[in-house]
Amino acid sequence: MNNNMRILIADDDPVSTSVLAQQLEQWQHTVTTTTNGFDALAAFKGETFDVVITDWMMPAMSGPELCAAIREEEESGELTSFIILLTSRGSSEDLALALKAGANDFVTKPFDPLVLQSRLANAARIVQLQMELHRKKQEADELACTDYLTQLRNRRAMWQNLQMDYERMHREQRPLSALVIDIDFFKKINDSHGHRVGDAALQTVAQCLTNSLRSGDYVGRWGGEEFLAVLPGADIIQSAEVAERCRHHLESLRIKGDNGKVIRLSASIGVAAVDGANREDCDALLDQADQALYWAKDAGRNRVKIYVPGVGPRRNMRKAT
Ligand code: GH3
Ligand code: MG
Ligand code: MG
Repeated sequence: MNNNMRILIADDDPVSTSVLAQQLEQWQHTVTTTTNGFDALAAFKGETFDVVITDWMMPAMSGPELCAAIREEEESGELTSFIILLTSRGSSEDLALALKAGANDFVTKPFDPLVLQSRLANAARIVQLQMELHRKKQEADELACTDYLTQLRNRRAMWQNLQMDYERMHREQRPLSALVIDIDFFKKINDSHGHRVGDAALQTVAQCLTNSLRSGDYVGRWGGEEFLAVLPGADIIQSAEVAERCRHHLESLRIKGDNGKVIRLSASIGVAAVDGANREDCDALLDQADQALYWAKDAGRNRVKIYVPGVGPRRNMRKAT
């Protein structure tokens, strides 16, 4: 149970505010006090509160108005605070109005400590449940974007990130590059060493590629033994250099197989870029990188090819030695 909650009080009566704050602090809560709805809303925008206790009658902004404003503010986020209206009014109509405005509960003034304490225990349960739900959702979101074997971003996450960065770079009139990296003859590794060693090799490749990129660039598993790296802001020349570095690092790997055997591998890499003014979409960029990858495979593998519109494979970059 979450015993210590962050509580915001909005009440224009300094005496009742101080009595309430003292009581809440005695119960180990962290309390912020404000004397009107506007200050309360400003405090709410600046900090996170688990519970808001607001007086009903306040000048300028009433308790229900503050509730509504807080709920509007919360719309963009995923967590909501537990709002308790403090009121000397207690009719059914008032209760209905308070709940309609977004309050979770209400306590009549002058408050009975036992009643307030049980209302807060209820709030704590809700706050706790909501936080657990939020944490689980974050975990699920993370899981949905992560490749289980390599822990890199999966295809879905790469596609989403690529689209976002593509738009961003276009707005900023900056280039963006994509590298499609495909392990050469990977089937042979599986065939000779088994699927388990093949899996471990893919994990090593993932780590190696991650280490070969600058921060701001990112790599994900595009499928099987194929990886996609996205380099926001990099033009074709810069990304060809990065690709060559990746190729070289992969070629230099020595992966431990069973019985002390050492496995070596290589990769073919296709590179494509869009410049800032280019109006084509992500699909076209990926098609071009795929085309360049095909040229790299066709030319003998373990090499980088860049996509240049209107230029065939023959006049393209050769394997670096
Ligand atoms: P190429 O140089 O033309 O790319 O040859 P390749 O053998 O790498 O290509 P191919 O597409 O024929 O085979 C890919 C292999 O990758 C076959 C598949 O079993 C293996 N593979 C794909 N995903 C995984 C995986 O998660 N784990 C393991 N161990 N192998 C995988
Ligand atoms: Mg392959
Ligand atoms: Mg492949």
